[in-house]
Amino acid sequence: MRRIADKHVSLGIRPEQYTIVGEHLLASVGEVLGDAVTPEIAAAWSEVYWLFALQLVAEEARLYQQANVDLSQPTRPYRVVRRIEETADVISLVLEPADGGPLPAIAPGQYVSVFVDLPDGDRQPRHYTVSSTAVRTRLQITVRRVRGTNGAPDGRVSSYLHDQVEIGDLLDVSAPAGDFVLTPTESPLLLASAGAGITTVLPIVEHIARTQPQRTVIVAHADRRAQDHALRETVMHLGREIDDFSAYNWYESVDEGDSRSRQGFMDLTDLPLPDDVQVFTCGPLPFMRHVRSTLLDRGVPPARIRYEVFGPDLWAAQTSPDSGS
Ligand SMILES: Cc1cc2nc3c(=O)[nH]c(=O)nc-3n(C[C@H](O)[C@H](O)[C@H](O)COP(=O)(O)OP(=O)(O)OC[C@H]3O[C@@H](n4cnc5c(N)ncnc54)[C@H](O)[C@@H]3O)c2cc1C
Repeated sequence: MRRIADKHVSLGIRPEQYTIVGEHLLASVGEVLGDAVTPEIAAAWSEVYWLFALQLVAEEARLYQQANVDLSQPTRPYRVVRRIEETADVISLVLEPADGGPLPAIAPGQYVSVFVDLPDGDRQPRHYTVSSTAVRTRLQITVRRVRGTNGAPDGRVSSYLHDQVEIGDLLDVSAPAGDFVLTPTESPLLLASAGAGITTVLPIVEHIARTQPQRTVIVAHADRRAQDHALRETVMHLGREIDDFSAYNWYESVDEGDSRSRQGFMDLTDLPLPDDVQVFTCGPLPFMRHVRSTLLDRGVPPARIRYEVFGPDLWAAQTSPDSGS
């Protein structure tokens, strides 16, 4: 519920939209299930929908108030002030509020929604993790270009941000949202990422280097090749400011002469792990399931494993009920 409410808040969903969604959802249930939907069943669906909707409306109202968001204008224009080509497929865009005001409070690991007006007239929002707030007046997002495979079209918003957006352009950006954030403890951290999931690692490492440099941090990352591993140097650079920092990389194909990286998929079986480690993982679902099952086998309690999914959240639907976080 909280995760859905967070996504809705970053998209500026309003209470009256639940009426529209409810109307069409219940009409679809009727159309798909046909005669099976007796009046009693229709009434039960409607009741469940509204119980769920009302809880979300209440939670969202609380989150909007907390973030000081005016629902008639849920986004704010940000100017692109830098564009960094991180790898062949990944760019970072550094954004500054165009109204000259301060940045909102952003917890490391949170995301914003970026709304773009596409050339065909469509307006599309997508979530992007705030990958850095190193300059306190600016936020950075890091975007992997999504290419269509097997005849599917290329990703619309990521392609637009890569191909069309230049320094000086304005983007509409929501308030930050999301619960993939650090809890105020001293426990050692394992940050396990793959591909674009690295965007959640940088802000956490940045935050630890700034506020808890004595905290143990282990970063483990998987990618296709070293050349595709975005933000690697920045993370390593910040890691030097942390007293006990170690980094492990797995690449599907390791360059000749690179004796430090490991070949193949991430394997955490023999990674040295402190007892009370807290885990943050982000990457494709199969990757995160693999990380989770290895760590559970090693005795890490499920409640100590937190995750972020860069797509529909099917984690809970496809892991056992003890998934914990
Ligand atoms: C909380 C959160 C944080 C995120 N953070 C980041 C981040 O920091 N960096 C990052 O790069 N991404 C991040 N993402 C992912 C990002 O929000 C977008 O999902 C991603 O950029 C793809 O958007 P798109 O518009 O380019 O692709 P879309 O146009 O939405 O396409 C998505 C996929 O659907 C396929 N597709 C589209 N149409 C069809 C069709 N007709 N038939 C078959 N397949 C089709 C496309 O080929 C593509 O693979 C995050 C997501 C979430 C939920």
